[in-house]
Amino acid sequence: MSALNYTGRALKNLFSKPATTKYPFEPADFKERTRGHVENDMDKCILCGLCQMKCPTGAITVDKKEQTWTIRPFSCIQCRCCVDGCPKKSLSMGRKYQEPGEEKISKTFDLSDSQKEALAAQAKAAAERAAAAKAAMEAKKKAEAEAAAKASAE
Ligand code: SF4
Ligand code: SF4
Repeated sequence: MSALNYTGRALKNLFSKPATTKYPFEPADFKERTRGHVENDMDKCILCGLCQMKCPTGAITVDKKEQTWTIRPFSCIQCRCCVDGCPKKSLSMGRKYQEPGEEKISKTFDLSDSQKEALAAQAKAAAERAAAAKAAMEAKKKAEAEAAAKASAE
């Protein structure tokens, strides 16, 4: 770099805004695509367990019986596998990073009441469909058996 270029660059830097920020004296400016932490919208989650299966560090636990979703933030490496694999798009990456701490905490979230009701209604409808299919199958078998008995009697 010539002396002229160097002087020009120095003067430009002198009168332009610094490239660095004053964090922590000013709030951090998290960019739109920052992978800070994982968030779950419990109004959308169906507790399918795919995120637990996809997580490479075992940071997520889905408890279908208790209807809870748990994440251990300090085990998360912000890889985004769970977010990209969620079929309901209930997971997203929040921009803010997990605060440091002395304990390996875990955060547990309950399904929302509306989602509990929706899942219960879905389960009920599925059980009714299964019962109807089973009844139809049994009726068909009975009819076939009766037809076979009638044919052998003739
Ligand atoms: S993959 Fe999505 S819908 Fe399934 S349990 Fe995880 S957060 Fe819920
Ligand atoms: S971002 Fe990666 S490491 Fe973190 S919970 Fe999701 S899958 Fe696991």
